[in-house]
Amino acid sequence: MDIHEYQAKEVLASFGVVSPDGALAYSPEQAAYRSRELGGERWVVKAQVHAGGRGKAGGVHVCDSDTAIYDACEKLFGAKLVTHQTGPEGMGVYRVYVEKAVAIAREIYLGFVLDRTSQRVMIVASSEGGMEIEEISAEKPESIVRATVEPAVGLREFQCRQIAFKLGVDAGLVQQMVRTLQGCYRAFTELDATMVEINPLVITADDQVVALDAKMTFDDNALFRHPQISELRDKSQEDPRESRAADRGLNYVGLDGNIGCIVNGAGLAMATMDTIKLAGGEPANFLDIGGGATPDRVAKAFRLVLSDKKVQAILVNIFAGINRCDWVAEGVVQVLREIEVDMPVVVRLAGTNVEQGQKILAASGLPIIRATTLNQAAERVVQAWQNDQAQGVNMRAAS
Ligand code: GDP
Ligand code: MN
Repeated sequence: MDIHEYQAKEVLASFGVVSPDGALAYSPEQAAYRSRELGGERWVVKAQVHAGGRGKAGGVHVCDSDTAIYDACEKLFGAKLVTHQTGPEGMGVYRVYVEKAVAIAREIYLGFVLDRTSQRVMIVASSEGGMEIEEISAEKPESIVRATVEPAVGLREFQCRQIAFKLGVDAGLVQQMVRTLQGCYRAFTELDATMVEINPLVITADDQVVALDAKMTFDDNALFRHPQISELRDKSQEDPRESRAADRGLNYVGLDGNIGCIVNGAGLAMATMDTIKLAGGEPANFLDIGGGATPDRVAKAFRLVLSDKKVQAILVNIFAGINRCDWVAEGVVQVLREIEVDMPVVVRLAGTNVEQGQKILAASGLPIIRATTLNQAAERVVQAWQNDQAQGVNMRAAS
C-alpha cells in the first residue's frame, strides 16, 4: 500500500526525520488560509497523488503570495495529474500540501528498499538528488552509494557516517544525516515498509538536513498489525477495479487488453497471461479466486470481471486442487443465468471433480465454450473474440 507524501512526512517525523513546516488543504481557499497560518513569504504547493514526477508534470508550485497559492490550487484540484509514473489516464488531485519553502543548497537522493539477493534492507543514496533513481543509475551510476543492514544489529552509526562521507556531506552535518538515516531505517523495519524514498533530501542554505519529499510503501500482508497505517489508505488513488476486488477479498490486477481472466493462483495467472499473448490476444486483467472458492465467490469474481468495461471475452482457467471444478462450474452457470452476457465465455477446468464440473457446464445448455488444455483455452478465447469483433464490424458496416 502506498501513502501520500504528507502522510509519509508525518510518519517519518515521529522517527526523528525533519521536513519543512506544512499543512494539508482540501480546497484553494483552505490552501491560501494554511499559508497564512504557516507564516513566511514563500510556500510550495504540492499535489498529493500516489506517484512521483509531480515537479516536472506541474504538480509542484513555488508561490510567493496567498493569491498565487489560490491560483495554483484552482488548476490542481479535481484535475488529473499525468506524470511519467501515473500512466496516460493520470491520478485525481483531491488534496494539496502547502509547505514553507526552503532555500536549497544541495539535493541528495535517499532510498531504503528490500534487497532480495542479500535478504537485507538496502540503503541507496546518491549525491545527485532531485533526479529519479532510474535516471541516476543510467547517467551517474558512479554517484550511487549502497549499504546493506545486518538485521541482528540494525543500522549502525558508523555505517551512517560512512554514507554521509561518501556523499560528501560536511562534517558539521553528519550528526543530522545519522539521525535521518536511522529514523528512516527504524520506520522501515518497525512499520513493515517495503520502500522509503526521500528525493530530494536537502541541505538547506542554513545547514539543516530536511526531507523535501517522502514516499513510503507498506507490505499489505503486514497491515493488520499497523492499524494506524491502514487508516492512511486513499482509495481515490487506486485502480477502482483493484480496490473493488480487494474489498471482496479477491486479488485483481488490471491490465490494458480485452480478455478478462478468472484463474486460481498467481502462477497459473502468469501462465494464462503468457498463453493468451502467445495466441495473439491481450489480457484485460486477471482475477485470482484463491483456493476453496464457493460457487458464490466464483459468481462474485465473474461479475467483477464483467464490470470492467475493457472486457470483451472471458476465460475461466481453473486448475483445481483445493478448489472444486463443480463449484466453479456452478458459479459460472449461476451468473450466466442471471445476467445476459453478450461476449464469448471460455471455460477450462482441470483437477478435483472435473467430470462433475464438465457435466454441470454441458447440462446448463448455455453457450459456454469448453477447453481441456490451457493452449486450447487460450486459442479458443482469442479466436472467439476475433470472430466477435469481425461480426461487430460487419454489423456496424451494414447499418
Ligand atoms: P516529485 O517531482 O513528485 O518528486 O516532487 P518533489 O517533492 O520532489 O518536488 C519536485 C521539486 O520541487 C524538488 O526536487 C525541488 O527541486 C522543488 N521543491 C520542492 N520543495 C521546494 C522548496 O521548498 N524550495 C525549493 N526551492 N524548491 C522546492
Ligand atoms: Mn521527489
